Amino acid sequence: MKKIKCPQCSGPSIWDETNNSRPFCSDRCKLIDLGAWASEEYQLPVSPSVDDYDDQPSSDGHMFTSTMH
Ligand SMILES: [Zn+2]
Repeated sequence: MKKIKCPQCSGPSIWDETNNSRPFCSDRCKLIDLGAWASEEYQLPVSPSVDDYDDQPSSDGHMFTSTMH
């Protein structure tokens, strides 16, 4: 059984077909993450450059930079 780190809570998450919430550890983390991304899209206009990510003040302290590509 493979375990990974949950992107939302950084807790242990089971990477398995039985885990419908993967890569998250639970539905709760999955929904939180989806909600965060949805609200993030509403706040940010279309970014012309990925360099903008570095210019963002990290006031909210989330870990989005680790999941953004
Ligand atoms: Zn989690």
